Amino acid sequence: MIYLVGSGPGDPGLFTVKGVRCMEGADAVVYDRLAPQSLLAYAKPEAEMIYVGKKPGDDQAMKQEEINRVLVDLGRAGKTVVRLKGGDPYVFGRGGEEALELIEAGIPFEVVPGVTSGVAAPAYAGIPVTHRAVSTSVAFITGHEDPTKGRSDVDWKGIARGADTLVLYMGVGRLREISAELMDAGRGPETPVAVVRWGTLPEQRTVTGTLADIAQKVEEAKLKPPAITVVGDVVNLRDAGLGWYEKRPLFGRRVVVTRARAQAGELSVELEGLGAEVREFPTIEVRRPEDFGALDRAIHDLDAFDWLVFTSVNGVEAFLGRLRHQGLDLRAIPRETKVAAIGPATAGALEGVGLRVDVVPEEFRAEALIEEIRDGSLAGKRVLVPRAKVAREVLPERLREAGAEVVVPPAYETVPSAEGKEAMARELEAGDIDCVTFTASSTVENFVGAFGAEEAARLLAESRVVCIGPITADTARGFGLRVDAEAKEYTIPGLIEAVVNLLAPDPAQR
Ligand code: SAH
Repeated sequence: MIYLVGSGPGDPGLFTVKGVRCMEGADAVVYDRLAPQSLLAYAKPEAEMIYVGKKPGDDQAMKQEEINRVLVDLGRAGKTVVRLKGGDPYVFGRGGEEALELIEAGIPFEVVPGVTSGVAAPAYAGIPVTHRAVSTSVAFITGHEDPTKGRSDVDWKGIARGADTLVLYMGVGRLREISAELMDAGRGPETPVAVVRWGTLPEQRTVTGTLADIAQKVEEAKLKPPAITVVGDVVNLRDAGLGWYEKRPLFGRRVVVTRARAQAGELSVELEGLGAEVREFPTIEVRRPEDFGALDRAIHDLDAFDWLVFTSVNGVEAFLGRLRHQGLDLRAIPRETKVAAIGPATAGALEGVGLRVDVVPEEFRAEALIEEIRDGSLAGKRVLVPRAKVAREVLPERLREAGAEVVVPPAYETVPSAEGKEAMARELEAGDIDCVTFTASSTVENFVGAFGAEEAARLLAESRVVCIGPITADTARGFGLRVDAEAKEYTIPGLIEAVVNLLAPDPAQR
């Protein structure tokens, strides 16, 4: 079975639920250049991934006949195949040709439509393709045709008068000729036009003008394919305030996330939701410690502890993992044992598995946690703190000063990572990064470790530095880095707020 699946225009959130299901069941995925790469992650790890994309003018590209042969061969081999195509497979996607080939070869197929860029890119640019009293019809047109064909197949005269809104795919390079054809056919030179490049993606750019000047403006803005061109009065609605996507507070801003890849997710997704283009530069990799012995012994001996104190989501996950590993579950924790978490994310991880948290300090740092616990008098109490192998000593030390007996078994290990270091340096150097975020002292230390303190300070000179709290900020300053903002609340949402305050100072945009 071959599924001809539309990937949507670029924003991975615009992929269909049915498309996800097909991807999950596929033995092979045959994909194009414009299909968002992140969607490939829906496929099974063992699925065969076949790239057949072509860049305009790329001779090396696979020819359509070869793509057809690949599909037929996979089908004949009895494979379940997703043929993933940008936007909708039947809108200038040659999906129909592939379907006809499959019929000829006797291979069954189904079509899963996708959100087409001709509707989605205008929508994200603030342009509805139809609008009551403005446009009652819309035509989808290809602006680029086989250059060997000589005369244009498009009936520009008919098209110009045939629909209120004209949506052109692939036409950016021929905008001058196309505008001239439309004006010749009677469309007024003052007709509004918008060209939207990389619609629905953080890189989205929109240039507006009129039939008379759009080609010039697009040239001046150096706008390249892929882009959708919209012609008609609906374009004016963008200026009436419908351009929501490009108005989001962090739109067009590049923000670096230095957390470990496993944890970057939440922060990256939130920043992207606010419009930012996120660069993940994980300065830390989280690994299992060399030896779980100490943690395993503590778990074996849980009855002996009065307090369980967690300082990170990693610590929670490792602790629960070792419980399971020993064939145990939460019932191994005695009823009287008190549970503390350093902040809301850690508490959330515990509560998510059904473990009630007794104490979360109001200020999310080690010092405040001790103050809270101390209310319950720590003298003679036994405290278990499963956490990173190497971490700040403040918490165990203070607990001991308060009279507690503290066991600190390594639950995980963080190792510095400098993956993607060269690319990061290049972007910082070029001034392409608006903001670098640090979510822990260790991320600062490793960032500095990757480049050296002097070079790090030089690279960060052009972009803003935002830290999750005063301790992380002090670490940064200690290395001679300038800190532009600190989160008020020492959490990921607090950090995001600080980034928005810094990069989108206009309160109307928040
Ligand atoms: N089947 C696709 C169109 C393929 S033709 C669909 O339904 O969207 C390729 C053309 O689609 C590009 O030249 C460009 O005009 C348009 N296109 C695809 N993705 C786009 C995007 N994210 N933003 C703007 N235009 C896009």
